Amino acid sequence: MEVSPPLDGTPCNFRRKAKRRTRGITRADLEEKWQAKVAELSGAGTPVAAPEAAISGAILIRKWEGGLVEYGNYVFLDVEWFATVLDPLFSHRRDSYGDIDLGGIRVTNIASLRRLDNEHVFEPQLAEELWSRELAPHLLLALKSAGLTFPLPNDPNGGLVILLRMDTKSPPEYSIRREEANQARKYDLTLTVACWFSLGVPPGFVERLLARCCRLGVPYPFWRYGALVVGNGAEEGLFSLSLDYSEHDNMLKVEVLGGGGEVHAWAALSKVLSVMIKMLSEFPGLPCEPIFFCPQHKTKGMPVRTTDAPAGSGLVEESYFCPLCQDRKAGIDLLAAALQVVGFSDEEFFDEPLRREFAENAERVTRQGCASQHGSDSEVGYLAPHAVGTMQAMNRSTQTGLPRSYEGLRPRHDVVSGTPWYQDVKTFVGAASVACLTVFGVFASKEDEDPRLWGVFLGVGMTLLGVEFLLIAREHKLLCCKPREDAASAV
Ligand SMILES: [Zn+2]
Repeated sequence: MEVSPPLDGTPCNFRRKAKRRTRGITRADLEEKWQAKVAELSGAGTPVAAPEAAISGAILIRKWEGGLVEYGNYVFLDVEWFATVLDPLFSHRRDSYGDIDLGGIRVTNIASLRRLDNEHVFEPQLAEELWSRELAPHLLLALKSAGLTFPLPNDPNGGLVILLRMDTKSPPEYSIRREEANQARKYDLTLTVACWFSLGVPPGFVERLLARCCRLGVPYPFWRYGALVVGNGAEEGLFSLSLDYSEHDNMLKVEVLGGGGEVHAWAALSKVLSVMIKMLSEFPGLPCEPIFFCPQHKTKGMPVRTTDAPAGSGLVEESYFCPLCQDRKAGIDLLAAALQVVGFSDEEFFDEPLRREFAENAERVTRQGCASQHGSDSEVGYLAPHAVGTMQAMNRSTQTGLPRSYEGLRPRHDVVSGTPWYQDVKTFVGAASVACLTVFGVFASKEDEDPRLWGVFLGVGMTLLGVEFLLIAREHKLLCCKPREDAASAV
């Protein structure tokens, strides 16, 4: 098994090191070896207590000591060897031919090597030649799990991007592409988080954060300290995420553009912040102050959680919610549903609970507004702006920025202004029916002997009463049921 030599490896040194055995083993092989040892000891009259739990316990202790690392089903038993094997990928040394110094190993796949050098894309074929066919999959998985690589979308060779090899300056097309993405969709919601690292960031922190976030969609362009990621697949065109770290002021800026009232931008930001919390847990004590800015009142910042928490936990505490937003309660409901910790694995983000809660929140707000339509006019006047106020608070646009799910909850005069005849006819019919019934009452009380006359008044009065009920039912349908349909289609 060939492995790369140490950093200062002379050819002689390298040959000696290359013969070193691989210092890793699959979990299954390790268990098998342990069972054989237990059987041997038992055979020799030395019973082993609870042998089935011994391996897990031993691995846990060695991990805690920093003596080994485990990725997937593979255990790297020697961290020094592990680091030495991966080192050539992240170093910028050159060999005597001017190529990337692979620690003395010469490879035949020159095209892959050039691609690693020029595009910072590492192809699995090169990994197999470098590390052997058996070891390469385990090391590639380790790189992915550690957030050191991410797959380049639609790459025919399955290339993996290594951000640590890239330049720290953003490419010129970054701002152009960002503007293009915004223009193409005319997003009406901007979510911003600024994160200040007062002492800077440790090497690899931003790159590993970015590598995980680049999996949220199609990343282009990307560089060592930033990326523009746009929605992919079912989320194509639904959000645009930009991440940008500046060494100048130790500030990481995250901005997500999306549609107001749609979950996609909120979900993308929740995922980025969840990844950051995970990263911060790997660097305990790193000073970091992430602030989420109210989409409506840009200057009002709300501190974002930085400590590890179960999936579904809020990312902004209720007590920090923007005091300027009109409806505090509705705003908290939305923030709790839309900004929360999202669980994730090497393969995917588990954001279903967030999407479900967001939809439920939208429906609840719609229902509240709907219920208010059954009450008095004063209740309507209070509750309808309640919902609108929420979204105005959450929404950048002040003109037409209402999200679809909340459109049905505009202030009542907006809705009614489209059907003025309604109110007039209803009022007229109501008055006429009351007049007829009053006349009938007068006749009845005087015990009038002409039943045809008061019978006509009774009949007309009852008919008008029926018409009024029909109009009320029709009004109810216009004001209440339609918004529900809107909400359902929006969610
Ligand atoms: Zn606000």
